[in-house]
Amino acid sequence: MRRCKFCGGEAYIVMKSPKMALCREHYREFVERKIERTIHHYKMLKEGDRILVAVSGGKDALATAIGMKNLGYEFECLHINLGIGEHSEKSEKISREQCDKLGRKIHVLNLKELVGMGIGEVRTRRAPCSYCGMTKRYLMNKFAVDNGFNVIATGHNLDDETAFLLGNLLHWNINYLSRQGSMLPESEKMARRIKPLYELTNENIEYYVNLFDIPYLQERCPYSQGAKSILYGKVLNEIEEESPGTKLNFVKGFLKNQGIFPREEIELRECKICGMPSLGEVCSFCRFWKLEDELKLREGKL
Ligand code: SF4
Ligand code: ZN
Ligand code: ZN
Repeated sequence: MRRCKFCGGEAYIVMKSPKMALCREHYREFVERKIERTIHHYKMLKEGDRILVAVSGGKDALATAIGMKNLGYEFECLHINLGIGEHSEKSEKISREQCDKLGRKIHVLNLKELVGMGIGEVRTRRAPCSYCGMTKRYLMNKFAVDNGFNVIATGHNLDDETAFLLGNLLHWNINYLSRQGSMLPESEKMARRIKPLYELTNENIEYYVNLFDIPYLQERCPYSQGAKSILYGKVLNEIEEESPGTKLNFVKGFLKNQGIFPREEIELRECKICGMPSLGEVCSFCRFWKLEDELKLREGKL
């Protein structure tokens, strides 16, 4: 039987990077310390921040919420029901249960109620994920801004980041490469977006959430099938298996050298419909969902 490196108790996990075995108690400490260090290292939070944690029902968002709660941060949660049939219903139900167990307030936005259609119901040639990503980012930010939150914490982890990074390198998406990172700074009408799980892998997170008696959704969104990021993730997992620590070195090395990718300064203006920052006269959200009036997301006025 493998023993915990710190107390000699029965090992709960045997990790390859860093190479060590830990008991339940010390593994929990290891993960929470990692989250705290990530938050400090990347200067993700400061005094007086009002934090919203985006919850989807999945393990990553749950780990973000549990970790931040155990580290003593105050926050509320936001769930977006994307209208993807039964999958979205299950996601909402489980998100509510999670927040209930954590004793945190949950706000729920329902895309169908807001714009009349769910993801996948729109007649467009665009793949659901392309407009879903834009929709989620917009709604999270608009909700935060309308309700006085200045920080949004998401469950993006090391596996997501490395898959995204590899994809951006393979396609030389210089613009993304110049901006990708552990956080996006705050600006006028844009909440700061932070990723406290930036240095934790899927495996780290799964073992962490399984320490707690809180349910999470294991099934994937039906539209995630065949996504390129899944392929990149598989390739990276194979490399990590052979050479533990590669993923972390990949993102850390990238952040150190990110300056080699020229950053295009983008001038934003106000969307003439919703007033939110936009590249063109009308922002991509209002344009895509053919809105004629601003969506008002202030609590009590939904
Ligand atoms: Fe949206 Fe695509 Fe993620 Fe499904 S897999 S939630 S459609 S981004
Ligand atoms: Zn121990
Ligand atoms: Zn708009």
